[in-house]
Amino acid sequence: MLNNLILVLNCGSSSLKFSILNPDSEKKYLFGLVERLFLPDTSVTWQYLEKKYQVCIGSNMSHENALDFVLNHIFLQAEKIFKRIIGIGHRVVHGGHKINKSTLINENIINIINDSVCFAPLHNPSNLIGIKIAMNKYPHLIKKNVAVFDTSFYNNIPKTSFLYAIPYRFYKKYHIRRYGAHGISHHYVSCKTALLLNKKFSSLNIITCHLGNGCSISAICNGTCVDTSMGLTPLEGLVMGTRSGDIDPSVIFFMHRKLNLSIDEIEVILTKKSGLLGLSEVSSDFRYFEKNYTLKKSAKISVDIFCHRLAKYISAYMSLMENRLDALVFTGGIGENVPLIRQLTLSKLSLIGFKLDFKKNLSLKSGKSGLISSKNSHMVFVIPTNEELAIAKETISIIHKT
Ligand code: ADP
Repeated sequence: MLNNLILVLNCGSSSLKFSILNPDSEKKYLFGLVERLFLPDTSVTWQYLEKKYQVCIGSNMSHENALDFVLNHIFLQAEKIFKRIIGIGHRVVHGGHKINKSTLINENIINIINDSVCFAPLHNPSNLIGIKIAMNKYPHLIKKNVAVFDTSFYNNIPKTSFLYAIPYRFYKKYHIRRYGAHGISHHYVSCKTALLLNKKFSSLNIITCHLGNGCSISAICNGTCVDTSMGLTPLEGLVMGTRSGDIDPSVIFFMHRKLNLSIDEIEVILTKKSGLLGLSEVSSDFRYFEKNYTLKKSAKISVDIFCHRLAKYISAYMSLMENRLDALVFTGGIGENVPLIRQLTLSKLSLIGFKLDFKKNLSLKSGKSGLISSKNSHMVFVIPTNEELAIAKETISIIHKT
């Protein structure tokens, strides 16, 4: 078992994460990230045998270009460990209404993921590129490709959370409902929280905030997710890097009717040009906002809106906790690395029992888990997510079952 490795591909909308790891020992042998796809200076960073590498692979590189570099250059470097790979795990954002759990990939599953593109237009197409290229490149593993879905974690959210207040037939006939996303990460940090608190998962009452390029928040009560901020697609909810999150749908009618923007143009605005990027008109990278919070008005207001929305969701989700909150959890690139966000958000929540320990918040090292609340507060943890490990564990368990 200890010899068995899993290759994990996480083909995101503008990035590609890859790793080769052992799901049992949790040892990562090789891992890396391609960033800035479709932008100038697409770059790849990776680590193999404790050594770090970084190269620019060109400008405006696509997922296909990035996979070509990763599979044909980086993985060649790792030929020795490659022989030990017994399966390939793929992150897939949306399974639509037809798939609700991790599954071996075959033609039918590919078709279902394809049919669900309308629910995750930024993500499912790139997820499919990763799947097809991996299946082609490694024919000996063709029956060992597993899709792990971000939507699976939300299988049991109640109708009160997942139904939109629109004519019921749109749900019955067209499956328009809230599906949630980022479930792999919310589930992973929930399991870690249960371990930290020494509690059974089934009795866990927590709120988890995944704050990365995409941002979402989930309410978990008695070990079941009872609400989450992402909706039909990963566009609803919190303010994100380039996505608007919640807006009045009439904004779309206004843009279309008064500004003559097409539906496609509006989709691009709301998914790729809004959020922190839209508000600041400079960047979606949180490092920029951290640096400029006290220096630039537009950076400050963008961050303040981000935290205002987050605090509103946390307060709302407190009402779903059935009289007890075990912990609030921050994770994702921003949640793990930006003390300012945690401080600004929690400062709005003292009335409902949150108090930050400023020293702990500031001194928590990147990549480490820790408690950042003071004694007379609900517990607040920072817990690094590890979607790749979660996907590898799911992949091996599905492979062993078949
Ligand atoms: P994804 O949703 O693509 O998985 P990540 O979880 O990697 O995203 O988070 C990306 C976000 O986290 C970006 O806004 C990035 O600027 C921010 N981020 C990552 N590391 C840091 C850091 N050390 N300091 C500040 N912001 C960070």
